[in-house]
Amino acid sequence: MARGKVYLIGAGPGDPKLLTIRALELLSKADVVVYDRLIGEAILNFAPKTANKIYVGKRSGRHVVPQDKINELLVSTALEGKIVVRLKGGDPFLFGRGGEEAEKLVEKGVLFEIIPGITSAITAPMYAGIPLTHRDNASSVVIVTGHQAGDSRKPIKWSKLAEAVDTIVILMGIESLETIVKKLIDSGMNPNKPVAIVQQATMKVQKSVLATLGTIVAEAKKNDVRPPAVVIIGEVVELGRKLAWFKKTLY
Ligand code: SAH
Repeated sequence: MARGKVYLIGAGPGDPKLLTIRALELLSKADVVVYDRLIGEAILNFAPKTANKIYVGKRSGRHVVPQDKINELLVSTALEGKIVVRLKGGDPFLFGRGGEEAEKLVEKGVLFEIIPGITSAITAPMYAGIPLTHRDNASSVVIVTGHQAGDSRKPIKWSKLAEAVDTIVILMGIESLETIVKKLIDSGMNPNKPVAIVQQATMKVQKSVLATLGTIVAEAKKNDVRPPAVVIIGEVVELGRKLAWFKKTLY
């Protein structure tokens, strides 16, 4: 029997048209598709009707399928000779645990390929007209998870980040938004610093909120902001007022 292979594929931020050609090509040949929560049906429909589509995403912070079970599933289906597509939101190597899965595949001698995806970290701001760097006021950017905001084992040094970089992009930051904002203000960041949140970027329902560090928590509440959303902190946010383009085209 032919050896199977696992393709760790980034599915992009949501709009199916932001898949890569390589992702589309592999999806259409898949025997098995193992997919996460943020993968929409329109993308799954590119897989053959006969493909076995297995959901392994999370609900309210809990894994439906624990990571080691996902790893085992990838290994065992590939060893059966199948073409396995492991679909992840955005890019598979940015807060996607793609690295852990690849490690397991190496350990078990399973063939694999990694296909990059368009990450929400860059695309969500872009779809709100916010470039992460800009010649006038931003020459550095950091992408950080907000998920560990309250975790003392791997604390993020918010005050150091605030000092060191011009633009901060936070993924998974909505639940901890208040804690993060407090840490940044306590560490001396100007409460007038522009902050944006972009929710469900690239989708028809995309919405964005532009505020400041001092007002963003209240604005997020007022506008009922929910995950998935990206938070952007920095002077570049102001450009969003001028450059917002998505859903504004006339044709
Ligand atoms: N690997 C993914 C990130 C996974 S972590 C990537 O590269 O995009 C999940 C987080 O990504 C969410 O909590 C949210 O912060 C962000 N995210 C993913 N899709 C998004 C979208 N369409 N709009 C806004 N944020 C999104």
